Amino acid sequence: MQLSDDLINEFKNIYKKEYKKDLTDAEASEAAHNLAGFFELLWEMSQKDAARKRKLKNHPDGFPVDGHYSCMVCGWSISETNGWYDWYGNTCLLCRKAIKEGIIPTFVCTDHDSYFKTWQFEKFSFKSPTVRKMVRNGELKARIVLNEYGKAHEYIFLKKENPGYREFHNASYKSYQRNRHKVADAWGRKTKVEMREKREKVLKRIRARHS
Ligand SMILES: [Zn+2]
Repeated sequence: MQLSDDLINEFKNIYKKEYKKDLTDAEASEAAHNLAGFFELLWEMSQKDAARKRKLKNHPDGFPVDGHYSCMVCGWSISETNGWYDWYGNTCLLCRKAIKEGIIPTFVCTDHDSYFKTWQFEKFSFKSPTVRKMVRNGELKARIVLNEYGKAHEYIFLKKENPGYREFHNASYKSYQRNRHKVADAWGRKTKVEMREKREKVLKRIRARHS
């Protein structure tokens, strides 16, 4: 995307007003192009997402993903050959099958805080074999996504099915989680407000220029 000198000057003015700092021509050009590129990317992503949702209306059962993504459930890398898109988002074919068969509930796709995965137990010094043993013993209840050979592809531990699991309910874990959420929420809120303000200002200038 090529921005005109006028637009870059406008950007300099906006920047000066917002951050009380003068940018050189080179800095302003780079920053304005970065910002424009970023919004172009966001725009493309939202267009792509809208197009996929429209396509779902004619293909209610979904269709193969059109590029490289991650499975919403297991996190594995997926592409056209092993990934599927439907109302629940992008999933690998194994997780999709597990959802269809009711082995894992659909809310797992959207509520990532509703379950644990094996690696989360590893943070508490439980290695995978220990976790699997606890599943066999019945100490933990797992929903198991199977691969094509009938072996475990992913273990999903629903929080509501493992309420008594003490390690996840101790004080240090709760405080770790609270802080993690607090930091992420604050950053998300700040970025959202900043992005909205910047976008509105840039759009206003662009509209003024073309009116
Ligand atoms: Zn998966």
